[in-house]
Order: sequence, then C-alpha cells, then structure tokens
Amino acid sequence: MYELARRESSTNTVVDVDGVRIGEGFCVIAGPCAIEDELQMETAARGVAAAGADLLRGGAYKPRTSPYSFQGLGDRGVALIAAASRRHRLGAVVEALDAEHVPLLAREVAMLQIGARNMQNFALIKVAARTGRPLLLKRGPAATLDELLFAAEYALLEGNPNVVLCERGVRGFDPHTRNLFDLAGALRLKELTHLPVIVDPSHATGRRSLVPPLVLAAAAAGLDGAILEVHPEPARACCDAEQALDLESFSELMNRLEALRPSKVATAASR
Ligand code: PEP
Ligand code: MN
Repeated sequence: MYELARRESSTNTVVDVDGVRIGEGFCVIAGPCAIEDELQMETAARGVAAAGADLLRGGAYKPRTSPYSFQGLGDRGVALIAAASRRHRLGAVVEALDAEHVPLLAREVAMLQIGARNMQNFALIKVAARTGRPLLLKRGPAATLDELLFAAEYALLEGNPNVVLCERGVRGFDPHTRNLFDLAGALRLKELTHLPVIVDPSHATGRRSLVPPLVLAAAAAGLDGAILEVHPEPARACCDAEQALDLESFSELMNRLEALRPSKVATAASR
C-alpha cells in the first residue's frame, strides 16, 4: 500500500509553487508545448499572464515519438522560460526528461514535471524529489491509478511532500481523440489520495476544440486545476499544433472559468 500517498482523512495537501497554492481553488498552468524561440516564449508568457494563468508551462526537453521530430531547445529553452517567468512573475513548470536535466531545472524553474513516459522511471523521480522542488507527476498512458500512486510514493519517501498528480489521458482505441480522458479516474484519485489532482485535456484529446469544455468540466467536478497548451500562433507550433489554444481562446476560457474561481482571477488581475 502507498502509505504516504493514501488518503487518511478529509484534509487535502496543498502544494505551494512559488506562492501559488495548488489544492486550494482551481489552478491553471498554461503555455506552449515546446519553447521554440525568445519571441514565442515571451508572447505566450505575456498573453497567459494577462489572461490570469497561475503558472507558465513550456517544454525544453521534448519526449517525441520520432527521433526526427523537434526535440526542444534543451538548456537554452530553460533560460528562455526562466527569463519569461521572472518578467511576468509566473512560476515555470518544465519537464525533466532525464536525471541530467534535474540540477539546472531545480535552480531555474518553480516546478519539475515528470512526463507520462517517465511515470515509472523511479530513479528519475527520486533524483527530482531530492531537490525539494514541487513535482508534477503525469499518469502514464497505460498506468493504473495504483501504479501512479506508487510512483508518487517514491517521491514522498524521499521526503518531498510536494507532489501534484496529473491525468493526461490513457491509451484508447478510437483515433478521434488522441487518448481517452479519464475524468472518473481523476475523481477516483481524489478519493484515494490527499495529493492535488489536475488534468491535461490538451494531451488527453489532441484537439483544441475539446480543451475548454474539459477544463470547465474538471473545475465543475472539483478537481484542483488544469495544465494546457497555449501558443501565440498554433498553426506554426513545432509540436502538438492541433491541440494548442491561441491566446484569444485561452482568454475566453479564463473568463468562463472566472465564475467558478472568482477569487483566483481577482488575485491574478491585481498582480
Ligand atoms: C508535456 O506535457 O509536454 C507532455 C509531453 O505530456 P505527457 O508527458 O503527458 O505526454
Ligand atoms: Mn505537447
């Protein structure tokens, strides 16, 4: 049994990421799939900050299916998102694809992401956890909820209590959506664990049209937040173009969320 991750009472863990308290209200993490260049990162950061996002995402080391696809800017990408993060006072969330990325990320960004493909890379999880930085642990595409919670347990056992879980879709059989968005699984996780649970409707569906309604569904269902892909020019995105929202659609979505999370938007607007 996952002794540390399992829920023992009605008390929920709140994970503080640069002053943003994940687990209190509905948190929105937004930004491009991949950091592509300085202008793209800056435009995305400025836009999502203005719309009221809580945290900024961006991939520097990309786990691409094909080795011929864009692999990310690497360390230079980390420098770009760190600078944008400081300029717009939005903590950054970046994936560590390998243990060798961890020291730089721990210095430069607010939260380390462990991607779906690495959910059971326990060596990576332990190295990332030992930095003390909050971790965003994504569910593997074929992982059970118990397997996800055991993976979280590895981080908790390292003495790092700051773990946020993310449902990002599991392998399905119908190509109309990239994955199957397991909303029930995300809600079941909340029953099983005290850790915050957020959703990633971008990777779950692969279609931008489905992202806003699923963010709203997750908020209405009482989950703790969403991470989503937003690009200033989705048609020109180096990866995951079909699932990226443009800044205008993101801003509209934030307005619709406002009804469900008035205090947080007020905080973001007064920043
Ligand atoms: C990502 O968030 O950039 C990503 C690659 O997601 P996942 O690990 O869920 O596929
Ligand atoms: Mn992506």
